Amino acid sequence: MKIEIIDAHTHVQFEQYDDDRDEVIKRSLNKGIGMINAGADLESSKKSIDLAYRYLGLWATVGIHPTEVKDFDKFDEIEKLASDEKVVGIGECGLDFYREEDRNNLEIQKELFLKHLELSRKVKKPLVIHCRQAFKETLEILKAHKNLLLENAGIFHFFTGGKEEAEKALEFGFSFTFNGLITYNRQFDEIIKFIPLEKILLETDAPFVSPLNHRKERNEPSFVDEVLIALSEIKKLDLEKTKNILLKNTIDLFQLTISSNSSGFVV
Ligand SMILES: [Zn+2]
Repeated sequence: MKIEIIDAHTHVQFEQYDDDRDEVIKRSLNKGIGMINAGADLESSKKSIDLAYRYLGLWATVGIHPTEVKDFDKFDEIEKLASDEKVVGIGECGLDFYREEDRNNLEIQKELFLKHLELSRKVKKPLVIHCRQAFKETLEILKAHKNLLLENAGIFHFFTGGKEEAEKALEFGFSFTFNGLITYNRQFDEIIKFIPLEKILLETDAPFVSPLNHRKERNEPSFVDEVLIALSEIKKLDLEKTKNILLKNTIDLFQLTISSNSSGFVV
């Protein structure tokens, strides 16, 4: 099966797809779109691995999202899952200060984030960072534990920071994912122009943040080509060339087991 695009951060294992998950996955794979399903707690991490065993072109990440600190005590289970061959990254993890109830968990969020950093180093798999209104603290933790970061440290998924934050994250070895928001919200144009194309990956973050042409629908990985088109337009680069570079970025960063032949990448 030929893979032309990879949705580097999505959640097809979530309950929003309980009625039609297989159709959603097949729609995507039939368009040559693979996907990395990101875990957000223990259960969704396990489900993302299960899916990766059922379909070629799917991979998983495991972790506990900062708004899911309820699973803090289950982190040792996440550690066990992390060495599975279908697991290609650690997260999503990080800090989220959007809601007051989460801000109240600041210390436990930090402690949990650090556990993911240690795990990333231990299993040598890149981080998938979720950072919402918490750049200062997130970058402080990364700086203090720089020794735990891999050379290709991972991604800041759904990056919403500015140049200063991007510069620091680049220094630490991170890449960035952008999603459907860039198809209609022009506030990301400047930062996308600023970040080198070699440090950018595509995501949908489905079922959330649908792109422009599907704004009223549930999002899904097969819509990620819309994000690709928006990105190549913002970067003023050839679409095919952009597509190939972003695919290679994703394969290299997550060290995906995917082979290449004369017609491109196949699984
Ligand atoms: Zn997500």
